[in-house]
Amino acid sequence: MKGLQEKVKEIKSGKLTATKNVANFLKKIDEKNKDLNIYLHLNSEALKQAEEIDLKIKNKKSVGKLAGLCVAVKSCISVKGLITNCASKVLEDYVSPYDATVIKKLREEDAIILGMVNMDEFACGGSGETSAFGPTKNPVNTQLIPGGSSSGPGAAVAADFCDFSLGSDTGGSIRNPASHCGVVGLKPTYGAVSRYGLLDLCMSLDTIGPLAKTVEDSQFIFDIIKGQDNFDTTTKEETEIKIKKKYTIGLVDVKKYAKPEVASLIEERTKKLAKKEGYEIKKISLPLDISLETYYLLVYVEFFSATRKYDGRRFGKKIEDFAGHEVLRRILGGSEISRAEFKGKYYREALKARAFIRQQFETLFKEVDLIILPTVPRTAHKIGEEITVEEMYAYDIFTVLVNIAGVAAMSVPAGLVDKKPIGLQIISPQFHENWIFDLGKKLE
Ligand code: GLN
Repeated sequence: MKGLQEKVKEIKSGKLTATKNVANFLKKIDEKNKDLNIYLHLNSEALKQAEEIDLKIKNKKSVGKLAGLCVAVKSCISVKGLITNCASKVLEDYVSPYDATVIKKLREEDAIILGMVNMDEFACGGSGETSAFGPTKNPVNTQLIPGGSSSGPGAAVAADFCDFSLGSDTGGSIRNPASHCGVVGLKPTYGAVSRYGLLDLCMSLDTIGPLAKTVEDSQFIFDIIKGQDNFDTTTKEETEIKIKKKYTIGLVDVKKYAKPEVASLIEERTKKLAKKEGYEIKKISLPLDISLETYYLLVYVEFFSATRKYDGRRFGKKIEDFAGHEVLRRILGGSEISRAEFKGKYYREALKARAFIRQQFETLFKEVDLIILPTVPRTAHKIGEEITVEEMYAYDIFTVLVNIAGVAAMSVPAGLVDKKPIGLQIISPQFHENWIFDLGKKLE
């Protein structure tokens, strides 16, 4: 497969033009987007921007590292001049007046924002079905959910509707669609990538990251979007971590939670890799039994607080009047948990559990370098199929702990179960994305 860096070389050498690259994608989008429901809004300036890049190249002026590459952006990441509506009626026509830091960085390297893509409403969901503008379809099999909440970013890469995409991950929303769509999705360390310009779901857990076809492409994009940013005080500069010759891998026991075929596929892949590379495997366990409870307590409370700005006076419409079921469930739940008479009791409990989970990871990372487990416990359901809230939340049982601990993780395609893609998840200590990339490339 031709990588993104190679494509940029072709554009810079004139073998391919930025204009042609944009036109190729627009043609495919024009033919298939109606059915797949991936793009909500296209950037009408994309071709013009591509022409400007081509002209610079023709005139031998310098261009950026991403010259002419096309990006699909999740509709909760602010892009100046484009509708950033979180796939909600609440913000239906809201045009962002500024660029998120990640967008600014991509533009500085001459990437072209092709458009804004579908998602679960306000990033609340794991299937792509809670969008107010209809579900996104999975390009691998259009009857299936593509996963969520970054349904559009995952499906856009799988449908070849862009060179790469940006999503957000609060509890699994980059990794889950990457797994179901058979692409690579990186959830960076909390603080590695600026959240400035991200419409928040749960500020203490949210991260922005890339979805792409290969690990190498993900690394390429991550290296451009990462870094300290004065607009997000939780960001830090990453110190270069050297890759290792041999890793000790912690393989998580997931039998109690995962479909047997999913668990055995991931175990087999890990063992095969370890044998080939001479890695040691240790069986470990994670506090999976408290993962979802802790996560949803934090999310309900922080999301309720985050939504108070949508009061209909400043941005868009009043959220209580225009949001869908899942968003309303969280607003109601969050306001209940946060009632004054409870004096923060539940949130404090969740913070205690969070401290415990962080400590568990710290202890584990003294014994192993990287942790491997499935990205999701099961294969994708059919769009529209009745599933309970608990079943929906359980999709993220293997991903939320990573956000709670603030560490990094990536989902890499591992194979098929019942003809449906399944991702293998690699977790590293904070700011050790390099190790994930190294291992991920060996797995591909
Ligand atoms: N599915 C999870 C939720 O609904 C994760 C969402 C996310 O990571 N944005 O909260």
